Amino acid sequence: MMSEKRECPACHVKLEERSEGYAMGSALTLNRLHADIYTCPECRRIFLYESEGDRMVKCPVCGNMHHAGEKCLFCALNEVQGANAAS
Ligand SMILES: [Zn+2]
Ligand SMILES: [Zn+2]
Repeated sequence: MMSEKRECPACHVKLEERSEGYAMGSALTLNRLHADIYTCPECRRIFLYESEGDRMVKCPVCGNMHHAGEKCLFCALNEVQGANAAS
């Protein structure tokens, strides 16, 4: 887990983690930047940190890399195409 303590440089209070591995940019872009979003409870500022690379996981179905906090995009697309073909 994350050992590094993140605090607001202005207020010196611990930041609250609001979202882990938020995907920046288009869903169709490979190797998107994933950000961890923190807010300061005192001044309400938002801080973004790049997500750690080890949160990427390999899909057991198709073998593509995707973020641990997200569904596999390739399998999701295959499901949509499969559903369209079946109907
Ligand atoms: Zn602050
Ligand atoms: Zn997959």
